[in-house]
Amino acid sequence: MKEIFKKNNEALSTISGSLPKPKWLAETGKLWGKWKLSGKKLQQAKIKALRLTVKDQTNSGLSIITDGEQTRQHFVTTFIENLSGVDFKNKKVVRIRDRYDALVPVVTKKITRKKNIFVNDAKILRKLTDKPIKISIPGPMTMVDTLYDDFYYSREKLAWRFAEVLNEEARLLEKAGVDIIQFDEPAFNVFFDEVRKWGIKTLERAARGLKCKTAVHICYGYGIKANIDWKKGLGKRWLQYKHVFPLLAKSKINQVSLECINSKVPMSLISLLKNKEILVGSIDVATNKVESATQVYNNLKKALKYTSIKNLYSCSNCGLITLPRKVALAKMKSLSKGTDLLNKRNI
Ligand code: ZN
Repeated sequence: MKEIFKKNNEALSTISGSLPKPKWLAETGKLWGKWKLSGKKLQQAKIKALRLTVKDQTNSGLSIITDGEQTRQHFVTTFIENLSGVDFKNKKVVRIRDRYDALVPVVTKKITRKKNIFVNDAKILRKLTDKPIKISIPGPMTMVDTLYDDFYYSREKLAWRFAEVLNEEARLLEKAGVDIIQFDEPAFNVFFDEVRKWGIKTLERAARGLKCKTAVHICYGYGIKANIDWKKGLGKRWLQYKHVFPLLAKSKINQVSLECINSKVPMSLISLLKNKEILVGSIDVATNKVESATQVYNNLKKALKYTSIKNLYSCSNCGLITLPRKVALAKMKSLSKGTDLLNKRNI
């Protein structure tokens, strides 16, 4: 594994994945925001947004740069729509994460990956910055949970197939110079039996053979009403991670990205992830209120009781896509400043 960018005595900062898109590119403030352009103009605008997001993250002082998911409409469905065997014209409604209904693509034939999906974005990103770069792709279980299956009729079988095609894409992302490949698996926080039976195995299959760092992001979702309502019913202590962490601790995945600020997750659960690198969610994506650098610092400091600075990264709880752009920018700055405070005080 490449150990090119992290010193043992410093925490690095990054976001979990998405950022708001510019108004000239897509509808803002929501998931599945429609593109405002089409054809060649859309392609050019996406690249412009990619440049802008690199600039924004760099100016905010973040250590690891992502594509901000500027070229995709949604973190899961865009990947799925680019596979063959999936009908994305005649979408159907499914219940996602047991929480909310959404119009999603339908699996109608054997899944194959006939073209590169985010490889070109990764190549562009690599050229735009000398800093380490991260690309997120969905995890197999979350993909299964975000579409309508009219062919495999088995969540496990479909997940294995997705893991194979994800691995094909991931290997090319690595080749394009990506330093961290992150698999987004919010479904791990909901379907515990399936995580145990095949979730971790399919995740490891998706990451097989990669020499770059690998990460898994598990959260309580975007700051949308369905998720906020769901969280209200989870009680005083959120212990969902307790089911998953011991299994992940034994896995080959290097990093785990968590929701840790303004959540009711006991920080002590981090100690179940011995020897893993931890991305401590220190920015809340469900509120426009911008955290101060001190709040970020305090949150990271709490996490340090259960992990070492060597394994610590600061991160957002989840994607920032639904927030106003100004708010997202201010939150990224606080994330970076709060991490700097920790690093300075930790010397
Ligand atoms: Zn998330």
